[in-house]
Amino acid sequence: MLQESAEGSGGASETATLRVLRRVFGYDAFRGQQEAAIEHVTSGGDAVVLMPTGGGKSLCYQIPALVRPGTGVVISPLIALMQDQVDALRALGVRAGFINSTLDFDQRRVVEAEFLAGELDLLYLAPERLRLEATTALLERGKVSVFAIDEAHCVAQWGHDFRPDYLNLSMLGERWPDVPRIALTATATRATHQEIVQRLGLEGARDFVASFDRPNIQYRIVPKRDPKKQLLRFLKEEHQGDAGIVYCLSRNAVERTAEFLCAQGIEAVPYHAGLDAGTRAAHQSRFLREEGLVVVATIAFGMGIDKPDVRFVAHLDLPKSVEGYYQETGRAGRDGLPSTAWLAYGLQDVVQQRKLIESGEGDPAFQRRARMHLDAMLSLCETVRCRRGQLLAYFGQEPQEGAAETSCGNCDTCMTPPESWDGTVPAQKVLSTVVRLKRERGQKFGSGQLVDILLGRKTAKVIQFDHDALSVFGIGTELGEAEWRSVIRQLIAQGLLEIEGEHGTLVLTETSGTVLRGEREVPLRKDPAPVKAPRPAAAAGSGARGGGKGAAPVDLPEEARPLFEALRAWRTEQAREQGVPPYIVFHDATLREIAVRRPSTLEELGTVPGVGEKKLATYGEGVLAALAA
Ligand code: ADP
Ligand code: ZN
Repeated sequence: MLQESAEGSGGASETATLRVLRRVFGYDAFRGQQEAAIEHVTSGGDAVVLMPTGGGKSLCYQIPALVRPGTGVVISPLIALMQDQVDALRALGVRAGFINSTLDFDQRRVVEAEFLAGELDLLYLAPERLRLEATTALLERGKVSVFAIDEAHCVAQWGHDFRPDYLNLSMLGERWPDVPRIALTATATRATHQEIVQRLGLEGARDFVASFDRPNIQYRIVPKRDPKKQLLRFLKEEHQGDAGIVYCLSRNAVERTAEFLCAQGIEAVPYHAGLDAGTRAAHQSRFLREEGLVVVATIAFGMGIDKPDVRFVAHLDLPKSVEGYYQETGRAGRDGLPSTAWLAYGLQDVVQQRKLIESGEGDPAFQRRARMHLDAMLSLCETVRCRRGQLLAYFGQEPQEGAAETSCGNCDTCMTPPESWDGTVPAQKVLSTVVRLKRERGQKFGSGQLVDILLGRKTAKVIQFDHDALSVFGIGTELGEAEWRSVIRQLIAQGLLEIEGEHGTLVLTETSGTVLRGEREVPLRKDPAPVKAPRPAAAAGSGARGGGKGAAPVDLPEEARPLFEALRAWRTEQAREQGVPPYIVFHDATLREIAVRRPSTLEELGTVPGVGEKKLATYGEGVLAALAA
């Protein structure tokens, strides 16, 4: 404000940070909270930055590191990605390096010497490095401009990604009281936010909190019927030729799903902790470098993957927490283009997860926490509300300004509002059956037996335990098996029924009695028919969207498509020659703009967002030649 009035209304003069944004990164203006956070840190203040994936967190520490004297030290747990992060920065002309266990002695010495000589703008380190006195001594001998603590939620002990080495980072403020610190994360509830502040000693820091909403991601959660077939249909109908991630719970499921997709003509590779490091690295690298590859993975895959054009994230099993779901789905659509988060889940998922929690190690408090995480995830699955609204509420946020309060228009419950029905009587039938099973037998039975009894099926197990003699036997023939499973799932989600023990036994809760005594109604949602949910008009564009490998950005005008394809071919060539992922050369969004604007001079090309000075110098002539051809 002060500056503006001093300079008059012309606004011609740039701040140092804006100059770097334009020259180095080739972007015109800051987004959202970026500017405030960057100015604050550049002038020496501490900051906590909460922004969604794709929100532009990296610039929040990269620009202060470029403007302040010395080297910005970035602490990140993602060793496997440091090389790519550094490559991307070097492509912009930023002097970046990393030190981690993948470097040999000589390579490390080179980076250390560069740091000490003041020849690095940014240095990436893993948190465990900072436990070594050699590392802190090195940092003390050089000049640090800013400490950036990336994936800061890893410091939260109750969080889903806790890393003990993060606790040690509180020493940064003690040993370097004059160096500003900036902690960043894309996943934090209010409690996690507080824990970050407290454990990192950031009480004096300013908070920069953006909405966690990812408007370009369409959220869909469907009942699981025949998961592989459902997945195949989803991919063939909506994401043919797109890059994406399919998450499964077990290694075995990962392998089988990847094989299945390959057999169906979809190029897919597996990724899980049971594969050797070489295979894992090769598959990750292929995912980053090729267009349109599908990775089928356990949650071991994906943290920090900053591939901008992941078009879908599919879950074949229920995530353990809303944080996990948000983080995994958040890997889709960093480039802001329409993307899909698709999850298929069923009653069996809930039972299995509960069994895992109960039979797993971990003290009672840990187990209680895990159950709460699962319950929150379940309630997201069974909600009749807008999924996006519920997600944001979980993180303590409201829908964004301007957005309708109750409907986002881009999630399954908003696009095809679930019908609700009065499930009081079926709920009473389920709960009475649970009571009978408990009272009369003292045995432990899961949901399968319950459904068989309701439906009056004389299975071997029903006969063995005389369950066909129960008064409730066959009282539920008005619904089918899938519907009963849906009722049970929703009773669990509403806290009217609970899964207990390693056997997944169904038991009553404190509130079940109110239903049994007819003191309350039980509204339930009808499972939607298995049809493809259409995209809303705003995010649509199926007309412009070609099938086949490497589908074009959805909003690309028809006449620009051939140019876009030509630029993409040119980019593939460049990326191959340099051994880097294509998006390090240029993002899709940048190629798209070039194809639309058709610049004929270097000067014009330089005004395209994403074309900074270094990239203009490196690729400018090449792009113009590709355009001319
Ligand atoms: P995050 O780390 O928060 O997930 P990134 O820093 O990777 O997000 O930024 C996401 C994308 O947005 C990147 O492609 C980045 O280059 C781009 N971006 C960031 N800031 C801006 C800006 N001010 N203008 C245009 N693009 C930006
Ligand atoms: Zn919605």
